[in-house]
Amino acid sequence: MQLDLRKVFDAEDQVLPFELQLDLSEIEQWGDHPFAAPVAISGEVSSRAGIVTVRYCADYVLSSNCARCLEPVEQKKHQEFFHTVVRKLNQEEDDDYIVCEDGILDVDTLAQDDILLELPIRMLCSEDCKGLCPMCGCNLNEKDCGCQPPQWDVRRVKAFDNLEWSDED
Ligand SMILES: [Zn+2]
Ligand SMILES: [Zn+2]
Repeated sequence: MQLDLRKVFDAEDQVLPFELQLDLSEIEQWGDHPFAAPVAISGEVSSRAGIVTVRYCADYVLSSNCARCLEPVEQKKHQEFFHTVVRKLNQEEDDDYIVCEDGILDVDTLAQDDILLELPIRMLCSEDCKGLCPMCGCNLNEKDCGCQPPQWDVRRVKAFDNLEWSDED
């Protein structure tokens, strides 16, 4: 959605509400396409005391698999974003400002960038997910398989001990 902000820039106390559905189903993350359903965006652009701001909420569901136990995970997200919009930057450059020289704001691109920046590094079914057993592959959240971790490294350390003994002899 392209918002024409020229009127907002030129007048005081303008409010321009907007609402859209953003399709991010093509976005790849964690080897997955986590945006199964469209993202609901609603917000407004307003000008007050000569300052133009855009603020909006994004509501969506992330669906993927837990990075540890590989079970399906869904996370409901509600995020709020806020930016100041300027027609050009002054000397004091600031990354938080959106520059909108022609007065047209592309809300789709803005929202997509904002949302992707806030994505978690990985998805977990819970912060203390125990993951899968490295030996038998069972889900350790569901049962304790009782597998013992491999012991070979301990035996090797002992073998080196024996070597040292025989050297001294
Ligand atoms: Zn998990
Ligand atoms: Zn096991």
